[in-house]
Amino acid sequence: MHYLDHAATTPIPEAVAEEMCRVLREEFGNPNSQYSIGRRTRDLVAQARRTVAGALGCEAEQLSFTSCGTESDNWAIEAALWQNRHVGRHIITTAVEHNAILEPCRWLEQEGYEVTRLRPGQDGSITVEQVEEALRPDTALVSIMMVNNETGNVYPIHDIARMLQEKKSAALFHTDAVQGFLKVPFQARELGADMISVSAHKIGGPKGIGALYLGPKIRNPRPLLPGGGQEGGRRSGTEATAQIAGFAKAVELRMDHLADKLERMAQLRDYAVEQLTAIPDLVVVGRSDAPHILAVSLPGWPSQNIVNDLDQAGVFVSAGSACHQGKPSHVVAAMGLPKKVSAGVIRLSFGPETTREDIDAAAQALRQHHDTRFPML
Ligand code: PLP
Repeated sequence: MHYLDHAATTPIPEAVAEEMCRVLREEFGNPNSQYSIGRRTRDLVAQARRTVAGALGCEAEQLSFTSCGTESDNWAIEAALWQNRHVGRHIITTAVEHNAILEPCRWLEQEGYEVTRLRPGQDGSITVEQVEEALRPDTALVSIMMVNNETGNVYPIHDIARMLQEKKSAALFHTDAVQGFLKVPFQARELGADMISVSAHKIGGPKGIGALYLGPKIRNPRPLLPGGGQEGGRRSGTEATAQIAGFAKAVELRMDHLADKLERMAQLRDYAVEQLTAIPDLVVVGRSDAPHILAVSLPGWPSQNIVNDLDQAGVFVSAGSACHQGKPSHVVAAMGLPKKVSAGVIRLSFGPETTREDIDAAAQALRQHHDTRFPML
């Protein structure tokens, strides 16, 4: 099997699965209970929070666990709009965000909010100047992702934060770093974003657990889930202890020699570009600034057919984002590429386990597809 879809989700290292099973079997106590087995799980959650916060570069108290990246994104939007309800009802985001941002924005429009969706260049880029031009006195929220999940473009988050500060904008700044966390080095305390979303299953952790960083500008956020007062009263619900432990273990494993891992992934990406662009007609789509995501297109060959043929060859890649399989990707559509190019886009994404053999297998299967199937568009 050649798994090249780490941006969709990652395999779980044995040590993560073992830690989760240990917690399920041996540490079943409720972290909110006052007796010793409750205290033990409480300590476990506290330690896990310190581990994830340490990797993110923030204080443990600034990090709330959520059920996924999608929840973190939804919460960030809600928290910002609540805090800035007297500032206005204008939101700036991009046309290439994940649906976890775009869908809440669509709903908010129906409630009277105004949403500016910045359009990318043909290479998928979004600039600070675009954000600056769109900024208004009534802008309550700016939400720009750190790494695009389909093209691997890295957006200038630090520069946007600085611009917002220089302009003395009241807007709160959120970044969806689900594809950036432990892929593109950053420290929350230096980045300048007020809120940062992350998710465990993109870095070797389990599905169903994410986190949201709430920086110093977010004062008394309205609780996402009012209830028993967990997560500092901000998001109630008994903590998902095994998921949290798995998240922390995955972070610990990734942090070990992280720079080497990222360097290896970047080398693999470059090797993949070299191998794949040797296939006639094939073009690279977007900038692939991040070390782990590479989008390419066989113009005229429908991407779903490519994915199916590669699947038969034991090579797993995605046609655009795995979150909306089957439908044309809004990201590629927003880039304004020729129809033939956008219809043939596939995404390869890598993890620390990926090898050159995986890339070779993908290149071989793609070449076979190109040589034996006819373009349909
Ligand atoms: N944001 C981005 C950029 C993503 O790539 C994803 C998942 O693909 C999400 C948000 C959603 O994360 P989750 O699957 O944890 O809800």
